[in-house]
Amino acid sequence: MIAALLAVAVQGAPSDLQDLLGQVDPVRLRATVEKLASFHTRNTLSPTLTEAAEWLAEEYRKIPGIQVELMRYTIPAGRRVPEAKEVVQVVAKLPGESDRIVLVGGHLDSLNLQVDAETGRAPGANDDASGTALALELARVMAGRKWQQTLMFVGFTGEEQGLHGARALAKRAKSEGWKIDAVLNNDTVGSSENKAGQKDDRRVRVFSDESESHNSRELARLIEYLVRTNMKDFEIRLVFRRDRFGRGGDHTPFNEEGFDAVRFIEVHEEYSRQHTHEDLPEYMDWSYLANVTKANLVAMYSLGLAGEPPTNVRIDMRQGHDTTITWQGKEGQSWVVYWRETTSPVWQGAFVVESATRFTLQQINKDDHVFAVGALGGIPVNAR
Ligand SMILES: [Zn+2]
Repeated sequence: MIAALLAVAVQGAPSDLQDLLGQVDPVRLRATVEKLASFHTRNTLSPTLTEAAEWLAEEYRKIPGIQVELMRYTIPAGRRVPEAKEVVQVVAKLPGESDRIVLVGGHLDSLNLQVDAETGRAPGANDDASGTALALELARVMAGRKWQQTLMFVGFTGEEQGLHGARALAKRAKSEGWKIDAVLNNDTVGSSENKAGQKDDRRVRVFSDESESHNSRELARLIEYLVRTNMKDFEIRLVFRRDRFGRGGDHTPFNEEGFDAVRFIEVHEEYSRQHTHEDLPEYMDWSYLANVTKANLVAMYSLGLAGEPPTNVRIDMRQGHDTTITWQGKEGQSWVVYWRETTSPVWQGAFVVESATRFTLQQINKDDHVFAVGALGGIPVNAR
């Protein structure tokens, strides 16, 4: 089969993506973070958590096309939880053409370990009003356009007591058969420097786990590639770990249910402010938070328009200087074939393939490289 093949070293950003990126507003992000930090506490065990959740739900309700649910679930008694408690979290949805889902979220709840959980001040500006504001901003920007996938925007709660809200949603998704393609968890993404004088406002870390039961590492690698090829002066720093040592995040319960999920987090955390009354908006960097929001937008845009992934992705094992990859998938769909050195953590090149399910990479030897194929914009499947 001869097909028109378009070889691209770097995919240029489509103009409507550029248009959407231009709509991400640091002033609006700041206003959301400041409002959330103005609640005395958003501790899951406090009465004001529900107030904050209702405020956030109302903000989502103002966006045309968005459906909002205040999801109820029960946190069992345990660590940081004296007795079982029914609480809420915010699940907002922009229905797409298909029932496949791309989810972005942050945790709405906050924590101050130095005071009483119910009554003590816990502003939680960076941890994690930043991720909550990011998801709301994406909903505002993305709701103006039609998407293939259903987009979900979540303000998780119960995070600080043990990822309870994310676990409740992940288990519900599994039991109700939700087709979640990707989960982008944003937790502590709004500051670019720490007290030690380290600063990096050009990168955000993406943590990913590797497992037989999900493809999160490949999701992370795709995000790195998409941001590298669609954003100027901003990059993903991949970390091939589930999370930081001794710490956790809302992506992990999704991993445990077999979904692809990664965590975005700033490069230089200031540990001394986390979980204290000092986690305040004044220590945040709004243009940095806007850039992390844009990196998420690049990923959501791509995943939100992607076709079904290919199956049976194979390397032709016959000897030769070139490498031929074959796969199966929907006819007429566009695909991307990726390659990298066996020692490279990131994709080094990609070819867009239109309306064909076979592609030959000229003079790229199969013995020295790793290959994968994805639907255009979707998570690649490794070739074997
Ligand atoms: Zn957090």
